[in-house]
Amino acid sequence: MIIVTRRGVTEAEIDHIRERIEGQGLRTHVSRGETRVVIGCIGDEARLQHLPLGTLPGVEAVHPVMKPYKLAAMQFAAEPTRIPFGSIEIGGPGIVVVAGPCSVENMEVMKETADFVSSKGARGLRGGAFKPRTSPYSFQGLGKEGLEILSEVRRHSGLPVVTEVMDTRQVELVAEYADALQVGARNMQNFPLLTEVGRTHRPVLLKRGMSATVKDLLLAAEYVMSQGNMNVMVCERGIRTFETATRNTFDLAAIPILKKETHLPVIADPSHGAGRRDLVHALAYAAVAAGADGLLVEVHPDPETAWSDGEQTLDFQEFESLMEGLRPFAAATGREMA
Ligand code: PEP
Ligand code: MN
Repeated sequence: MIIVTRRGVTEAEIDHIRERIEGQGLRTHVSRGETRVVIGCIGDEARLQHLPLGTLPGVEAVHPVMKPYKLAAMQFAAEPTRIPFGSIEIGGPGIVVVAGPCSVENMEVMKETADFVSSKGARGLRGGAFKPRTSPYSFQGLGKEGLEILSEVRRHSGLPVVTEVMDTRQVELVAEYADALQVGARNMQNFPLLTEVGRTHRPVLLKRGMSATVKDLLLAAEYVMSQGNMNVMVCERGIRTFETATRNTFDLAAIPILKKETHLPVIADPSHGAGRRDLVHALAYAAVAAGADGLLVEVHPDPETAWSDGEQTLDFQEFESLMEGLRPFAAATGREMA
């Protein structure tokens, strides 16, 4: 249930509405926009049936939320959600590019990459310290040492960092170091992990599972949010289909659908979406044109020697041309590059 208040509603009226709802054992969430306030009800809505919510002072309308996800649903927020990431915001007017290698390999590669991508307009740094690899014999990431490198490179470059957390037992550690916690495609429905990251105060970058529908993705976001962490970004990174020309099939339509369905920022990952570096520019431009709030791009000084995902990783020159090419696509959607 969502309660939309009248223009000029007073704080006392808002408090009263919340008290009535909470008195029935539900929780409330208040979302304040420039012109209106939306009060979301979380819990067993049957208990509200006998309350005359529509007649309480300050109430303009009462809407049921028909979607299976509620906190993530567009109607739940008065305005699109903006998520703090270091000193910037994701989900505002500026399109944010987060770039870096697939895996954290060593200090030199991270520093060199951070300096370069930052000089070309990236606003965040990526790099996995814990890597979900298809084969147990592939490089599994540097673990804690990788987190220490990320934190040193953040100090050096000023870029906030996003890195993956794979296991509930790592959440506390990764949250200590990272500015945002990535939940990878393979863990999108790891419900204990979603619950655990939901208990932290770190923003979460939630990637779409490779066999997950848009609804599944939003329900996974709902898991995180239902624990109290509202700062979730959802990320399209391609899904598995019968197509073999690309590593995954980048679901471009998911971007405008997500923008309609949720107030959460939508990120696109053209690197995993394509699995091929020659397609990254095209998918990145298409994603921005389709309304993405940000991009997650794999970049390495020498992709050929990258420890993971080299085939889909841009070198510096390619990243520079990507950034130059993005501006007109951002402008075409009435936005700018952050
Ligand atoms: C990654 O970002 O390097 C990664 C492993 O992504 P995904 O979970 O989308 O495969
Ligand atoms: Mn990768």
